[in-house]
Amino acid sequence: MKKISPELVRDSIQFAMTLFCIWVGYRFYLFYQWMVGNSDIAVSKPGAVEGFLPISALLSLKQLFTKGIFDEVHPAGLTIFIAVLVISLLMRKGFCGYLCPVGFIHNLLNRIGRKVGGIVTVKGKVELALLIPKYIIMTSLLISVLFKMSGQELDAFIHSPYNFTAEARMMFFFIDISTTAALIVGTILLLGIFIPYFWCRFICPYGALLGLIAKASPLAIKRDENKCISCGKCNKACPGGIAVDIKTTVNSAECVGCTQCINACPVDGCLSVTDRLSRIKLPWYVIAVGSLSILLIYYAAAKYTNHWDSPYPLQMLRKYYMMM
Ligand code: SF4
Ligand code: SF4
Ligand code: SF4
Repeated sequence: MKKISPELVRDSIQFAMTLFCIWVGYRFYLFYQWMVGNSDIAVSKPGAVEGFLPISALLSLKQLFTKGIFDEVHPAGLTIFIAVLVISLLMRKGFCGYLCPVGFIHNLLNRIGRKVGGIVTVKGKVELALLIPKYIIMTSLLISVLFKMSGQELDAFIHSPYNFTAEARMMFFFIDISTTAALIVGTILLLGIFIPYFWCRFICPYGALLGLIAKASPLAIKRDENKCISCGKCNKACPGGIAVDIKTTVNSAECVGCTQCINACPVDGCLSVTDRLSRIKLPWYVIAVGSLSILLIYYAAAKYTNHWDSPYPLQMLRKYYMMM
């Protein structure tokens, strides 16, 4: 029987997640149109849209830890954020490798780059210099939110009209995009064709945070030095630009657990997913299945315990939308 390839599994999950996000975006657009009176068709708000508000979720997480209050403005956003942190802790950057639609866009851009033969390999000091900014952005964000923001400021932001309408503002950022923003997005996409996973590797502060958490993950990619023939195929396949062929254990903050290195390796059993101490070999699909399962478990738990939909009345949200 023909083996299922890790590449096919990853592409399929990423594609399905991207379709789902497009559907969520469309449903939210219809919800907004109904709320502001542009449509008579009542549509409920898709909670998953709040997954695109990680900064708001970070504030909510601080509120949860400092005051014991589970955010009621964007409860689904907080649920998704916690699920993504847990995924990173247990399943490496499985969120980036399988679930984030931006990761899928970069997967497609990378394929275009390979087709046109214009891939630029970023290595050494240049790579290090390019990697630093995302960690600076992430650290600044964490310091501002976790250490500098007082409880009063936190409360004021969470219950501000700005935070209530954050998803709508984000939607308009893309629908009514300014020339400057379009040029920046276009440049990032163009760079993504020639420099694999440009946004994910060098700019995204969310990915930077997940990468640091993933360093504590119990899973890693293991290379069997005795079997390796030093062909370098694993390096070429790696979206994180990791030199897999010179490591015995890959525990880099850039590893998204996509197992494309395993897929590319011509020697059976040379690369595998193992526990950190390399005692137990695990099936290559453990990160994909584990990441998806954790997300679904958190969704089901939040729905069941009423931590998914906001209890605030729609009239209030409508008022804020009209004020926008
Ligand atoms: S690095 Fe950022 S944009 Fe890229 S897949 Fe991860 S979370 Fe998504
Ligand atoms: S090391 Fe392997 S699993 Fe990690 S990002 Fe690179 S290809 Fe994916
Ligand atoms: S693809 Fe496999 S055999 Fe080739 S260098 Fe990488 S680990 Fe070694």
